[in-house]
Amino acid sequence: MVSGQWFVDSIGARWHFDSGALCLDFAYTGDFGYDNPAWERLHSPTDLSAWLVERYGPLQDTADSDALSRAKELRSTITAIARARADDTAPAPSQVDALNSWAAHPDIPPTLAGGTVAPAQATVARALATIARDAVDVFAQGPSRIRRCASDDCGLVFFDGSRPNSRRWCSMQHCGNRTKVRTHRNRTKEIRS
Ligand SMILES: [Zn+2]
Repeated sequence: MVSGQWFVDSIGARWHFDSGALCLDFAYTGDFGYDNPAWERLHSPTDLSAWLVERYGPLQDTADSDALSRAKELRSTITAIARARADDTAPAPSQVDALNSWAAHPDIPPTLAGGTVAPAQATVARALATIARDAVDVFAQGPSRIRRCASDDCGLVFFDGSRPNSRRWCSMQHCGNRTKVRTHRNRTKEIRS
């Protein structure tokens, strides 16, 4: 399954951000609650279908405008809970209720290869329920696994599923190296002065 997606930074360079979780990748198809329309990726039902097909393969149906607005409701619920988790605060109970009711819908069932009947293709509704269930799994692991990038001027939220729980950056290439170069420069400056 595809994970992460491409972002464009302030100087126009493309970089890949893998949030570490399907539900957070989905949340980052929007502005993550920062009221910035430039971050929107799902402009039309076609954009939603394309995003889902990239992750689940061909779907039985295509998204319509109703599916798009429901997807955006799910996305804002996930965003609100992710932000609360990253900031170490309790998410609003109404948001938790909304996520739980999303996760109660049938998701994409797991399948084993090698049978005689081709597994049914996923539907848009099942794909969205799968994202909701991923969010339940991820958020149930506690706030310490949902953090913000350690770079002062970044703040992107990721899920750290690694055993040592030691991820620090949204991306090593984007913030990790930048911060290391900055620290090195400051240190060199201190030595020289
Ligand atoms: Zn970062």
